[in-house]
Amino acid sequence: MREYLKNTWLGIWTVLVGMKITFKHLFIPAVTIQYPDVKVPLPERVRNRLYVNMDDCIGCDQCARACPVNCITIETVKGLPTDDLGITSNGKKKALWVTKFDIDFAKCCYCQLCVFPCPTECIYMTDIYEFSEFKRNDLHYNFSTLSTDEGEEKKLNWEKFQAEKEAQKAAAAKQKAEKPAPEKKESTDKSKSAGE
Ligand code: SF4
Ligand code: SF4
Repeated sequence: MREYLKNTWLGIWTVLVGMKITFKHLFIPAVTIQYPDVKVPLPERVRNRLYVNMDDCIGCDQCARACPVNCITIETVKGLPTDDLGITSNGKKKALWVTKFDIDFAKCCYCQLCVFPCPTECIYMTDIYEFSEFKRNDLHYNFSTLSTDEGEEKKLNWEKFQAEKEAQKAAAAKQKAEKPAPEKKESTDKSKSAGE
């Protein structure tokens, strides 16, 4: 009987010791949060997902050249003299159509080096840090506002414009070459009179 009581007490004591920390936390404020319903405030210099405001992008390629992992791909086409591409919010005139502006976030190391050289401050870090995907390709973001067809159209227009310009140049050069040289009558007369 004595042994039985001793074992019972030992069982109770063991549970009490095991639950000591649990009981303690019933009376102190929680250190955990109910993520994702509750989120901790972000620090001031946080590095998250990038965003590109294409209305202000002039296609200068400086961000892509600054990127240490080459995860920014930009393609541009020159605008025609008749095209109105508008101006950026800091007053820069746009001259290039940005037909492709892709960032591969699977490669991005969030160094922010692309942000600093941008002359129009149109590429910047957002406060979005939850953008995991099941497929790696889904981390490939396309920021260009032009569709593939529109990009091709701009390219063709520029090529056509260049071809027309070259043709005009060639025609002008041909016309110049075919034009008969002016007669040197006056100079001949002068030399005659000098001989007399
Ligand atoms: S944050 Fe760094 S790695 Fe990511 S796109 Fe910008 S320069 Fe490239
Ligand atoms: S540096 Fe800025 S303006 Fe130039 S291509 Fe990059 S995002 Fe566009």
